[in-house]
Amino acid sequence: MDRKVYDICIIGGGAAGLACAAEAEKLVPGISVFIVEKNDILGRKILSTGNGRCNLSNKACPGHEGVLRFFDSIGVITRTDEAGRIYPYSEDARDVADALTDAVVSGGADVLTGAVCTACSFDESEQLYETQITAEQDGSEKKISILSKRVLLAAGGKAAPKLGTTGDGYRIARRFYHTVTRLAPALTAVETHEDLSSLSGVRAKVKISLISHGGSLFEENGEIQFTDYGISGICVFNMSRFLDIPEGRTLINGFDDYAVEIDFLPDTRDAGMLVRTRMKSCGEDQVDISVLRSIVKRPVAEMILEKTGGEPEMTAWLLKHFMVHPSGIRGWDHAEITRGGIPLTEIKMDRMESKYYPGLFFAGEIIDFDGPCGGFNLENAWETGLRAAYAIAGDSEKTKTE
Ligand SMILES: Cc1cc2nc3c(=O)[nH]c(=O)nc-3n(C[C@H](O)[C@H](O)[C@H](O)COP(=O)(O)OP(=O)(O)OC[C@H]3O[C@@H](n4cnc5c(N)ncnc54)[C@H](O)[C@@H]3O)c2cc1C
Repeated sequence: MDRKVYDICIIGGGAAGLACAAEAEKLVPGISVFIVEKNDILGRKILSTGNGRCNLSNKACPGHEGVLRFFDSIGVITRTDEAGRIYPYSEDARDVADALTDAVVSGGADVLTGAVCTACSFDESEQLYETQITAEQDGSEKKISILSKRVLLAAGGKAAPKLGTTGDGYRIARRFYHTVTRLAPALTAVETHEDLSSLSGVRAKVKISLISHGGSLFEENGEIQFTDYGISGICVFNMSRFLDIPEGRTLINGFDDYAVEIDFLPDTRDAGMLVRTRMKSCGEDQVDISVLRSIVKRPVAEMILEKTGGEPEMTAWLLKHFMVHPSGIRGWDHAEITRGGIPLTEIKMDRMESKYYPGLFFAGEIIDFDGPCGGFNLENAWETGLRAAYAIAGDSEKTKTE
């Protein structure tokens, strides 16, 4: 009996894989799509994005309009907040995952969830891809192999492994002679050498600067959160993308070249003047808690006073230049994304197709792209997934007319 040959086998039913499947099914009615997904449901990670609200794109992304048209076509309408972040109108990530799942299933895809792709190879003589899958069925392990004309590798990265992403895609890509650039967790909190536990739980609106060898690598205004182990918050997450461990260094000494400057008074140029004015109105000739009250939160004031002994100029200086030193970053379990991946130079980026294997496509976090918080990473997943779908649709159209 002839085995079924799918037009495309999609490895990973996450953001990128689902966008590709839904669009390909719409553009090429009758296209046969197979999706293998490790989790028990499709789009599991989408549910956790944006604190359950799914910040799906950003006005600053050049391709956001195409992405919004795609979402509109599957019944997801959106709203944009004052910072340009785009969410489903309901602000419920479940609506995004459900709409994608409905579109993919109603478009006719064969979906296998709770199943792990273990390998994929290309048969030169048949000109077909063969994807090996292990699935638990009726309490026992079953091996399945899927033949397809094309494969989309959309297995994500290594961040948040509890959500299914354990780096399998890189291993599969290497079998096709693709390389993988250095991988690192990103959009994650930063551990510090300084014991900041007395500030744990404090949130403050600050400007942070990442300093290395006297130069500033990154600056952002935002809300910092102090924790038992160091610092967190969106601005810190964004900063984590710039914390590289230099070649030859390890996690033990890898961050020695970095310092983080926290400016507790980002809107005030002359902190000395502010402190002196406050001292005058409090009738104090040294800085104490009453002077710093209402400028910074009490635990911050206490920590600063402990360091300066209340000396006015030193206190003003520390309010603007509070230095902490990264000892590490929170690892894969805590990170939102992966830095590094399949180099873009190995991919035809207009089609998301491998330069080495025609018919092998990549989309989403598996490629060497990382963006800041704010919808840029999901945008990358949708955009690259859709681009692969357009390429597949274009090829199908060509085959029809040939
Ligand atoms: C907590 C959290 C919050 C986030 N919030 C946002 C946000 O608000 N906005 C934003 O832009 N980005 C956000 N991100 C990042 C964003 O979710 C990812 O960049 C995006 O989901 C990547 O899409 P993807 O399709 O490449 O990978 P994923 O969405 O991770 O999908 C990959 C899929 O492949 C499956 N898979 C992996 N290996 C195998 C295998 N061997 N066999 C079968 N299936 C496999 C996985 O189970 C997974 O479902 C967040 C990430 C996290 C962890």
